[in-house]
Amino acid sequence: MMASRLLDVYTPIPLNLKRGEGVYLYDTDDNAYLDTYAGIAVNALGHNHPAIKKALSESSQRYLHVSNLFRTDSEELLANRLCQHSGAEKVFFANSGSEVNEAALKLARKRGREISTEKTEILSVSSAFHGRTSGGVALSGTAEKRAMFAPILPGITHINFNDIDDLNTKMTHNVCAIFLELIHGSSGIYPLSETFINEVKRLAKENDALIIIDEVQTGLMRTGTMFAFEHHDITPDIITTAKALGGGLPLGAMLVYHPHEQILKPGDHGTTFGGNPLACALGNAVFDVLETQDFQQNLMQRMTYLKSRLEAIVSDYPALFSELRGKGYMWG
Ligand code: PLP
Repeated sequence: MMASRLLDVYTPIPLNLKRGEGVYLYDTDDNAYLDTYAGIAVNALGHNHPAIKKALSESSQRYLHVSNLFRTDSEELLANRLCQHSGAEKVFFANSGSEVNEAALKLARKRGREISTEKTEILSVSSAFHGRTSGGVALSGTAEKRAMFAPILPGITHINFNDIDDLNTKMTHNVCAIFLELIHGSSGIYPLSETFINEVKRLAKENDALIIIDEVQTGLMRTGTMFAFEHHDITPDIITTAKALGGGLPLGAMLVYHPHEQILKPGDHGTTFGGNPLACALGNAVFDVLETQDFQQNLMQRMTYLKSRLEAIVSDYPALFSELRGKGYMWG
């Protein structure tokens, strides 16, 4: 194979992929591989799903891109569905998880500054992952990465994982928001404890800080409910989501709850490609499937089966496994 001209930021698996179908990828010799990566948690409906292909074909006949100088029906419809499923008031679309986390950061700091110029501190949990942009790296728990790209975005403090005392020490009136990844995905599937989540809720209220839940991995039924926050007694101020949302095309969404939907005004934030009509049409196709009872029943059965089999493996091999953590289709 020709020497790759792609920057060496990845260590790709050496397979020549020809096509995908359902849960399988096929190489050029037609060997089938069970695709457990699913495009890094993107292909929620599998490869080559008929609903996605139909939306792709129909939407591409209309226009591919018009920018946010115009409203498009696919974008409006998808925003409506996201609000219906989450209870949020308004949606901002971008192209990735990192970008919607950046948007949430900006919204939170703008709101904080309107209350007091000191209220710009952000809390995040160590070992959480929130993306690879400068803001994403600053929010994420990987200290080596933060050091590698220093100086990074200031004003972000990390709390030790599930450490209530640390949370109590670091949450002050100067905190404008706390980012939560309810089940830490990239660091190896570590769920935040119920006590920690409840304490975040109490302290955020006491200090008038926004709760921003990063559902980039956990959103769109990955844990059995549309959003993972539904498993807990907590209402977010902002949800960020991406991954499965664009049905394979780049799409992220920031879901903003009332009364914070008025914070960002025309000109405060934006994007060239975010909310692209084709990506949103695919997003609507994803929802067309996720919303059906058949899909949900089937999903619940499979999730229950996966859990029971994993529990059996963990208990059968105590020398290899110490515990099973997670929910739905997110297990460590
Ligand atoms: N937040 C979480 C929880 C993620 O898992 C990821 C990506 O894996 C991101 C943010 C960043 O998303 P993206 O890679 O789309 O920028």
